[in-house]
Amino acid sequence: MPYTVPKLEDYSPAALDKAVQELLTAVRQEADAVSNEADWKAFRDRWMARKNGILTQVNDLWLKAAPGPAKRDVGSRVNALKVEVEQIVDGAQQRMSGAASRARLGSERVDITLPGIHKPIGAEHPVIKTMNEIVSVFRNIGYSVAEGPEIETDYFNFEALNFPPNHPARDTQDTLFVVGQEKKRQRDRLLLRTHTSPVQIHAMEQQPPPIRVVVPGKVHRADTADATHSPIFHQVEGLAVDTNITFCDLKGTLDHAMKALFGSDVKTRFFPSFFPFTEPSADVSVTCFKCGGKGCRLCKNSGWIELLGCGMVDPAVFKFVESNGYDPAKVSGFAFGMGVERITMLKYGIDDIQLFFQGDVRFLEQFV
Ligand SMILES: [Zn+2]
Repeated sequence: MPYTVPKLEDYSPAALDKAVQELLTAVRQEADAVSNEADWKAFRDRWMARKNGILTQVNDLWLKAAPGPAKRDVGSRVNALKVEVEQIVDGAQQRMSGAASRARLGSERVDITLPGIHKPIGAEHPVIKTMNEIVSVFRNIGYSVAEGPEIETDYFNFEALNFPPNHPARDTQDTLFVVGQEKKRQRDRLLLRTHTSPVQIHAMEQQPPPIRVVVPGKVHRADTADATHSPIFHQVEGLAVDTNITFCDLKGTLDHAMKALFGSDVKTRFFPSFFPFTEPSADVSVTCFKCGGKGCRLCKNSGWIELLGCGMVDPAVFKFVESNGYDPAKVSGFAFGMGVERITMLKYGIDDIQLFFQGDVRFLEQFV
């Protein structure tokens, strides 16, 4: 039975005590039953609404109806009752909002012992990493970095580098040509550059001597993919031209670079070789960085690993850029080039060049 305000017949202190206690018991029980915001608003209005709330009824039925002599006692009891009921109503709201916020906190609880969200961070591809290392060795001795187009003309890729007209490198067996250019002159035909060496010509066309550039880049050959061949690979090319540059400068520069790349114990060896755009030309070997020269599987028991090609710039090449100050009678220079994949494979013990281009995260993660 919900509480209703009784009319009072008896205004004795004992009767008033009893009526007050009954009312307080009722308001406390109803306060305990409040469990949500809507409940609480209904509870508050039932007890405290100005119009016909229980406290208003108490005022009318108890105080206004009290006979003269009892008015003073009834008045103070009703005032005390109002204060107490307000506290109970406020208390119910606090208890309820406390419960609600505890419930919210419970549902939003963060378990700080769980492992964090792991976002994998990318890293340099091993080929790019090696290429950057090689470039920085030469930057440190004053070389600037030059780049050139991957689609070249026959002129820059072959002719200006002193390749004779019928050189076998121009064969479609070796070089990837852009189709449909039969009507063009040979020197204007487009191809995917087969080496970074054409950037030597671009650099010398743009800058008179002296020049020192290092050229990282991607190159292409008509090779069938296998463990040691790929139709795409990377080279780092270098060129230094000045007055009085000799083969000694070439040897000293490359010896320093190989020590910077592979350790100060590494020794270099130069063997005669041939490239159309250098004369004399040499292949450079370094002492095996795995066995130190004693002989092992990596160096095929020779103790040496062949790493790059180099030579003194052929005067015939300077003829193509003579108008920009490269008079073969006045300047001399050297050039070198190395395969980045080969060096990366030797450095990390990788036995299949295809791994570089397959994009397999399990392979690449090892170099993070
Ligand atoms: Zn070895």
